Order: sequence, then C-alpha cells, then structure tokens
Amino acid sequence: MATKLKVFQFPAREDNYAVILHDPENGTTISIDAPEHEPIADVLADKRYSLTHILTTHHHPDHVEANAVLKGEHDCTIIGPEAEADRIPGIDNAVKDGDAFEVGGHRVEVIATPGHTLGQIAYHFPDQKLLFAADALFALGCGRIFEGTPRQMHESLQRLAALPEDTKVYAGHEYTLSNAKFAVTIDPNNEELTARAREIEQLRDDGKPTLPTTIAKEKATNPFLRPHDPAIRANLGMESASDEEVFTEIRARKDRA
Ligand code: ZN
Ligand code: FE
Repeated sequence: MATKLKVFQFPAREDNYAVILHDPENGTTISIDAPEHEPIADVLADKRYSLTHILTTHHHPDHVEANAVLKGEHDCTIIGPEAEADRIPGIDNAVKDGDAFEVGGHRVEVIATPGHTLGQIAYHFPDQKLLFAADALFALGCGRIFEGTPRQMHESLQRLAALPEDTKVYAGHEYTLSNAKFAVTIDPNNEELTARAREIEQLRDDGKPTLPTTIAKEKATNPFLRPHDPAIRANLGMESASDEEVFTEIRARKDRA
C-alpha cells in the first residue's frame, strides 16, 4: 500500500484554489498548478516542506503564474501538457493523454480534457482516489469553452465521469454557489441537487470551501454530466436530442446566465 498523501487545499487569487500534496514518508511535495506565489509559499514555509513537483493542467495565467518563482526557490520539476508545452513556464516533462508516471512512488495517470483549452489535462492518482480536474469539471459545473468545442468538453466530462465513484475531485475554482443556482434551473426536481444547493449556501455563508467533491456526487447532481437524464431533457424540451446537443444547450444557457 502506498502512503496516503496529505492534501492541503487553500484559496489563491480571487476564486482559485491551490492544492499541495505531501508524502510524509519520503517528503515528496506536489503543487497542483501554481496560481499565486504568496499563499503557496506561506503553506510550504509553515509546514517546512520543500516543493519537489508542480503538475500543471493548462496554460492560463491563473494556473501557471507562480511556476517560475517556485522553481527558482525549490528547484522543483514541472510537469505539464505536451500540447501547451510552449506556454507552460519552466516545464521539464511534457505529458499527454494516456501517459502514466510516478511522483515519489505515487502513480499518476494523465487524462486529456480538451474544451476549456485545447491542451488541458487532468491528473488522476488512482491509488489515492484523487482527481485534479482544474477547469474541466467543477462542483455542479464545467469550465467555459474557450478553445475547444462543446463536443470536446462533453467527451472530456464523460471520461472523468467514468472514473471510480469514490474518487475525490479537486477543481481550479470556487464557483459552486453560482453553479448551484444555475443547476437548479436545469434540473429543478432533482431532490439530491436541491439538498446539495442548500448545503452549498450554508458552506459559503460560513466561509468554507465546497470542494473537494466526488464523482458520485457530480454524477447525481451536476447537470453537465447528466444530459441523458429524462427529467432534464423534458425540462429543456429536448426529449429526442442527442446527449451532445443537450450538453451544448446547457452550456449555452450557463454562458448567458
Ligand atoms: Zn483556465
Ligand atoms: Fe482557471
């Protein structure tokens, strides 16, 4: 059995999350993306960890901004998506869909999730039951489609939805409250969703994070993973459309919301 990684999630920038993983046995310390130097450096200093790796998901500035400074301070190895390698500061190892590698003895599997950007990847730690989905899959939402097509985003999300249901999902942003308000307009009779929406309001009122989530929760309540659902289809008047068409309509409505 692999050592259980400690996971620290904390806010950065406006609404990003930074995540640090730490193996207490061998000291391996991984930052998932590097949205902002100060909060990450503070946690590392507080815990007396030296950063060994950064796993970059995509090229947006709010995910790579601190790469260069952290690398300068810790001489860490930066792993990122091959398709965006020329836009990932300090990248050492480029990886692509289907690749698997080890970090400090922990298996990491790369899943391509194009849509938000064309090259975005998710990192799956199967033995730890952890998924880092960045700006592809959010709690009750999905990323805006900046570079890809709705078809690509739909396929990316379906691949993530196929992971084991007890996988914990971390995402790049705390967007859950606005996602929840939108989700209930798409799937108003889903009792699990309405209960979750209330829970999320409470968490945010208390200043608490709504992440991580799980694959099981998202499959039950996230409309972007449920375009096949008969109640959602009936609500949208799209009973005979394809899943992809229903997904595309939900995404378009969210963009206008
Ligand atoms: Zn992004
Ligand atoms: Fe982002």
